[in-house]
Amino acid sequence: MKHIPSIQRPGSQPQKLAALRQAHQDWNSAPDVFTKLTRRLSTTLSLETQLGILAEELGSIVPFDSLNYHHRVARRDFVFATGMGGPHRCEYRLNLEGVSLGTLTLHRRQKFSEEELQGIEMIIGAAICPLRNACQYLAIEQASLTDSLTGIPNKRAMDESLERTTQLADRHHEDYSLILCDLDHFKSVNDNHGHVVGDHLLQLAAEALERSLRTSDTVYRFGGEEFAILLPHTNDEDAKDVADRIRKAVCDIEIDCGGTKLSITASCGVAMHIEEELPGQWVARADEALYRAKSQGRNCTRVFASIS
Ligand code: GH3
Ligand code: MG
Ligand code: MG
Repeated sequence: MKHIPSIQRPGSQPQKLAALRQAHQDWNSAPDVFTKLTRRLSTTLSLETQLGILAEELGSIVPFDSLNYHHRVARRDFVFATGMGGPHRCEYRLNLEGVSLGTLTLHRRQKFSEEELQGIEMIIGAAICPLRNACQYLAIEQASLTDSLTGIPNKRAMDESLERTTQLADRHHEDYSLILCDLDHFKSVNDNHGHVVGDHLLQLAAEALERSLRTSDTVYRFGGEEFAILLPHTNDEDAKDVADRIRKAVCDIEIDCGGTKLSITASCGVAMHIEEELPGQWVARADEALYRAKSQGRNCTRVFASIS
């Protein structure tokens, strides 16, 4: 016969459950700022939302005119600001276990009293662990969208923005163009000079592309030696000029390989978004134009089904 062990449930006594229910109710309706703050912060991993909560709870105890937060996460600046500043300010360089978590600054018209400063510090102290978690989450989120070799957005980031862009383009009937830029004969760079030189060239190419674009344009590492550039408010004619400009920027890269100068060229394919077109179809048309640029001699730009 099977032995069924008796199950002990020490926590299931009615009094304990009643106490739990009461504690839960108290926790949810607690008026004290620490419980409220930590409870609200625990509901989100968004750094922006957390800072909004912190600003609200802090402001309910120590009034201020503006709160500013700045942090550099995964090589990008994260900035959060509420309200307009005043002449008096207090600034905190947030830090947990030796790890910097950014700078928080409060401004207002009246001076902060010593008591108020102590209050601010206590509230920030209660928020610091959730803020650390949100910073880490943001860093991981950004890393998942960033190419580790070049530091520019990766294919995943590109897929996400193409999805958003196609919807925007359809809704607002705006011109959006896509350039695919592929480095020419890159395999021979690796074969003749090694992967370290190849990697270095890819990094320089990504930098050159970023430098030669407007801030509204975004460059992605689409594949091994392939980059994609998304150009809002740009028709295919103007995108072709941009493609020629970025090809020149790539051509201008020169690295010294033991006395000989190494340089590369690039080919580009351009396609302007067509209404109702899916991201994959748009990329395929740019790829077709790129294929023509390759088959017609490389080091040139071709535009899909338009002027070439
Ligand atoms: P084509 O002009 O037709 O584009 O010729 P290609 O040699 O550039 O193209 P192919 O597709 O034959 O080869 C791509 C090369 O890019 C081969 C691969 O080793 C190299 N590559 C891809 N990713 C990386 C990378 O991360 N680092 C380095 N060093 N090389 C890479
Ligand atoms: Mg290539
Ligand atoms: Mg390629």
